[in-house]
Amino acid sequence: MKITAVGGYKAVGRNMSGVSIADETIALDNGIRLDTLQIYDEDTNQLKKRPIQELVDMDIITQPNRLDNVKAQVVSHGHLDHFGAIPLHQPKTPIISTPYTTELIKSEYRQGNYRPLDYRQEHELGRNFTVELIEITHSIPYASIVVLHTPEGDVVYASDFRLDNHSLIARPDYKRLRQLGKGHVKVLIIESTRVQELGKTPSESVVRKKLKDVVEFIENGLIVSTTFSSHVERIQSIVDEIEKKDRTPVIMGRSLSKNISLAKKFDLIDLPAETRVCSSAKASRNMLEEIGKGRREDYFLIVTGHQGEPDSVLSRMIDGRLPFRFQKGDSLIFCANVIPTPLNEASRYILETKLRQYGVRVFDGIHVSGHSAREDHRYMINLLKPEHVIPCHGNMMMRGSYVELATGEGYELGESVHLLTNGKTIDI
Ligand SMILES: [Zn+2]
Repeated sequence: MKITAVGGYKAVGRNMSGVSIADETIALDNGIRLDTLQIYDEDTNQLKKRPIQELVDMDIITQPNRLDNVKAQVVSHGHLDHFGAIPLHQPKTPIISTPYTTELIKSEYRQGNYRPLDYRQEHELGRNFTVELIEITHSIPYASIVVLHTPEGDVVYASDFRLDNHSLIARPDYKRLRQLGKGHVKVLIIESTRVQELGKTPSESVVRKKLKDVVEFIENGLIVSTTFSSHVERIQSIVDEIEKKDRTPVIMGRSLSKNISLAKKFDLIDLPAETRVCSSAKASRNMLEEIGKGRREDYFLIVTGHQGEPDSVLSRMIDGRLPFRFQKGDSLIFCANVIPTPLNEASRYILETKLRQYGVRVFDGIHVSGHSAREDHRYMINLLKPEHVIPCHGNMMMRGSYVELATGEGYELGESVHLLTNGKTIDI
């Protein structure tokens, strides 16, 4: 079989790999590069208006048709760095993912040939492949580890995941992974973003405890929190704390509203009846006017803008582009980390400086990563016992660090653990 590194084997983002046997290829993920997208500050609808080549030159997506004879496009989960190029490339092949992920892709590209697949359900693709999705924990609902059963053995694609045994909405399917490890995993293609971090990535339950500690501490003023729009479990944790404070939950921002309505459809989120969800700019404006006239202690906001994105609700609240002024004694809780790009760090610096001027109390770091740390990775490689390992989803440092871990577990560079770069194909 041949494995092709299409994207994500140089820098973080635009993830895509190909697995080929004879004249059949399966494409795994097809994402965009978020940090370059941010520089141009465009959403997918605006991107669709540009010629594909321009997007390739902007380093946002990979060149289309980098893989020949593609029989199917499999998507591991609903983050844009894993599916965001699909609405732009518009593939005609079947697109396979969990029903939840399918809905997320569909919201950006209606015409796709979708084949939603439940966990552990097997689906034949051509003569050489049967695909199966395995339940795993990450920072978005219904993430999956993709398995391609082939006559030469299994190919396991684990990007992205963490091992969270206390998640409220998902559970790593250790039983199925262990079964695969007892068979023949020929290749494991695995993310490497946080393999340099020692230890184990903490569970989402750690965030719940940190959040409780902070929220209990805040007695007065308006409370505003911000987090990743697709992180449904995190949003639920915030809402649960709001309920204890007897404040009205107010959710503002287009992407938050979109993710919440999908989560409701899949019964993943439970919002109190009095929750106010503002999906349009007009609704947010009216809501903020209402808060301005009422008691600040009565409300608890969840808004978009954790990275200081200029057009987010939070940035517009701070800049006075919405009918609102922060006051001394208000609190802002960041339930997200700063994704370390120069642009994010600069935006966040500006945001925090302005907040300080208003006398707002800032609570930072109420977050855990959705990616596995070193010991999670060691566990996974020993569970699956693959014949070959290929680290993906990372720059050279990250993938190199994975190689170091793998060699410690008995693998040999160039023999059984392989470092690929974008555009390279390896024969295994
Ligand atoms: Zn992800």
